[in-house]
Amino acid sequence: MPAETFEFQVEARQLLQLMIHSVYSNKDVFLRELVSNASDALDKLRLESLRDDTLDADVSDLHIEIDVDKDARTLTVRDNGIGMSYDEVGQLIGTIANSGTAKFLQELREAKDGAGAEGLIGQFGVGFYSGFMVADEMTLVTRRAGESQGTRWTSRGEGTYTLDTVDDAPQGTSVTLHLKPADSENALHDYTSAWKIREIVKRYSDFITWPIRMVPEGAGEDGAAPAPETLNSMKALWARSRDEVSDEEYHELYKHISHDWREPLETIRLQAEGTFEYQSLLFVPSHAPHDLFTQNYRRGVQLYVKRVFIMDDCEALLPPYLRFVKGVVDAQDLSLNVSREILQQDRHIQLMQRRLTKKVLSSVKDMMTGAPDRYATFWREFGAVLKEGLVTDPDNRDALLAVSSFASTHADDEPTTLKAYVERMKDGQDDIYYMTGDSRQAIENSPHMEAFRARGIEVLLLTDPVDEVWADAVGEYEGKRLRSVAKGEIDLGTEGDEKTDEERERQSEEYAGLLGWMKEQLGEEIKDVRLSSRLTVSPACVVSDAHDLTPALEQMYRAMGQEVPPTKRILELNPDHQLVKGLNQAYTERADRTALTETADLLHGLAVLAEGGQPKDPARFVKLVADRLERTL
Ligand code: ADP
Repeated sequence: MPAETFEFQVEARQLLQLMIHSVYSNKDVFLRELVSNASDALDKLRLESLRDDTLDADVSDLHIEIDVDKDARTLTVRDNGIGMSYDEVGQLIGTIANSGTAKFLQELREAKDGAGAEGLIGQFGVGFYSGFMVADEMTLVTRRAGESQGTRWTSRGEGTYTLDTVDDAPQGTSVTLHLKPADSENALHDYTSAWKIREIVKRYSDFITWPIRMVPEGAGEDGAAPAPETLNSMKALWARSRDEVSDEEYHELYKHISHDWREPLETIRLQAEGTFEYQSLLFVPSHAPHDLFTQNYRRGVQLYVKRVFIMDDCEALLPPYLRFVKGVVDAQDLSLNVSREILQQDRHIQLMQRRLTKKVLSSVKDMMTGAPDRYATFWREFGAVLKEGLVTDPDNRDALLAVSSFASTHADDEPTTLKAYVERMKDGQDDIYYMTGDSRQAIENSPHMEAFRARGIEVLLLTDPVDEVWADAVGEYEGKRLRSVAKGEIDLGTEGDEKTDEERERQSEEYAGLLGWMKEQLGEEIKDVRLSSRLTVSPACVVSDAHDLTPALEQMYRAMGQEVPPTKRILELNPDHQLVKGLNQAYTERADRTALTETADLLHGLAVLAEGGQPKDPARFVKLVADRLERTL
């Protein structure tokens, strides 16, 4: 087949340009990326040969090799791993552009600082292309294990690449970088220098479980080729004791596993002894990945069995609400060809999941008490995910509540724990109050908050989609009920209220007629009309009955494809508001019922609008308002 030339997609090209005119401060990391890919390729071949004993591949000496040629100014990273077919090269290497690329480019443009941009690149796995930071041409020759023909890919990183077939390619992949002219100002960036290569491998790739070899240049003493030296120690960091491993080494492992370029927020070690022995090293990233809430987010940790890599993204080891945790779990007594299906049901795996979950939660707790700043970052990035556990993992509910924090009317920017909330509760306050909504501002301005504000009662302000669900599911904290200020009847007692019981009594008699009539008028849309004890400024609000679904939940269930009957809500009127007083007067004086009906509709529409909803018939609502306004001119 003759060589074919292809164009990169526009987005891929932009990305390449960014890469070449580098956003990285540290160019050394290109080697880590290539070694990381090579190591993955060796893992894959090892696995495939375990599963398929007809595979025609040599697995006797799996390794990575780095060659430098000072004269030609080339650096080659070679592996004898799984390799790629012609089509795979086109898909995997030819198109950098996975679905996230467009979004990525946009974020990259928005990221002001280089460090931000550097972190972003890591998230999108453009590792291979980082070679263009130091090379003006890259050549990749590869042959997939089991296939006879190889493929050559070449590109100058400028918009096109060529593909052609090669007949005598060895199994695996070699990537050759044609290095840019030597950086005369900075000899530190000489990637043809053996000590430089040694240093980079040691720093970034020491833990790689396959040997990384380098053949020193020049002939040996007796004219024979010099013996290759192995650059990495290959020690599994998770199996070593804490004091043998530096933080940097842990961090490099994290970067290798997660494809993130930033430091992790937290490193968590767990070594379980006994009948079912395993070691694990888990990491909490410092930033939530952009696709954490999407279907295609690949969650899970790496599973090893007795130091042998078994699978990526092993989701059985941690619950979905810890899906942001990365790391390695290495078990002693699992079969090497264990499958995902088996793992899901395995009793030992379930025990491991329980234990690992507890360990992660206790680390979060430690952060909370020992490193409040780090905890704050953690909560900002992952709080919304963690709260899913309040619904799905009742066994760990208390532990989860203990490490959760929430925005509150108590302070503008500092979230509170439930514990601290309870400590601040006023005498006579029995319940923990919260309100859900789209934003802090929307909630704070909602009419439901008026009486709470007037009496200085603290309300938690919950803005994540999951909040309503967990608050409902959890129900109480240390014997105190969790109550939505927008649900059910609120009785804040008479303390701080200028109204006496007698006055309330009198008002309810006074309004009985109007309430009954309005209920009849609006009966299609609402369940009841009653006087409110939560309003001080607004004329009306709508609330949900104590055990009914709220509009947000209703919407959520529908979005998930569940059928739920529409829930009618309750209209509450503020008996001290001029509009409501006037309406009542008009009603008792038997004024024109058409105008009254309109006012009732308007009042209901206003209440719905005030909580961010939409009147049932917006066009009619607008017309009624316009008519009224016209009359005031
Ligand atoms: P990432 O490694 O983050 O997925 P890369 O751009 O570095 O992104 O690589 C893209 C894909 O190309 C890899 O996921 C892998 O499937 C394939 N690939 C890269 N290098 C090799 C290699 N040495 N051997 C086999 N496949 C490779």
